[in-house]
Amino acid sequence: MVFRVGCHVSISGSVDFAFERARKLCCNTFQIFTKNPRGWSAKQLNENEIKSFRKQLEQRKMFPVISHISYLPNLASQNKEIYEKSINSFLLELDRSLTLDIPYFIIHGGSYKGGTKDQGIETYTNSILKGVEHVNGKTVILIENSSGGKNSVSGVFSDIAKIVNEIDDKKAVQVCFDTCHAFGAGYDLESKRGVFNTLEEMESSIGLVNVAVIHANDSKGELGSHRDYHEHIGLGKIGEVGFKELVNHPILSKKPWILETPVNETRGDSDNLDYLRMLRNKV
Ligand SMILES: [Zn+2]
Ligand SMILES: [Zn+2]
Repeated sequence: MVFRVGCHVSISGSVDFAFERARKLCCNTFQIFTKNPRGWSAKQLNENEIKSFRKQLEQRKMFPVISHISYLPNLASQNKEIYEKSINSFLLELDRSLTLDIPYFIIHGGSYKGGTKDQGIETYTNSILKGVEHVNGKTVILIENSSGGKNSVSGVFSDIAKIVNEIDDKKAVQVCFDTCHAFGAGYDLESKRGVFNTLEEMESSIGLVNVAVIHANDSKGELGSHRDYHEHIGLGKIGEVGFKELVNHPILSKKPWILETPVNETRGDSDNLDYLRMLRNKV
């Protein structure tokens, strides 16, 4: 079976440019934001870029293409104004994803600051339900695990499982497993034993079958530090042993792997892609 691995690529200039950027990096899957991730506003997609995007989606052998929600929305927010803005952005970005025929849409967890954890989980669950209704089976919404900590709704696997079970539509809502976030949340991935225990816990709560995408990031932050600080694969606190174990796992290795690693003088995207592919073959 082909190992599917790619990275997050820019849509700068036009959304369809993402394909060429991904091809240059030898990705056979990739992830994008469908709009500028740093603001609330969105420039309308024009006919040409939509057409070109869909055509390439059909013709190029890069799949799945995955979209990720922008940074600002907080789908667990207890602040009415932020909540409204977040829902509007969520639905708008889902629409853009649908227009581009993208099959997966990743949302990060949210913060329930000012409320209780139960209220946060309820708000977050209801937000996702709005999204599920909106897309009507045409794209899968993936909840990404977070690095947890204060006011966070998706740092603990059993909390994510609770949300997924509450929604009770496994075709509509699945999970994106981010290795850096899991490590930050306190799930050990540094040793063979750590990976085994973490995946056992994931299997018994979320179920590995419900994990649709892996975000492969090493962690600059310590185990359980609740820090979301990505590092090059093998050079962080998870390290080579952990990633070798993860990337050769019989179930996880069949899922698409997306890198969200830094680009700096140490390594760029293609170096991290090569490194992960090298570990994949090192059985
Ligand atoms: Zn991620
Ligand atoms: Zn992150």
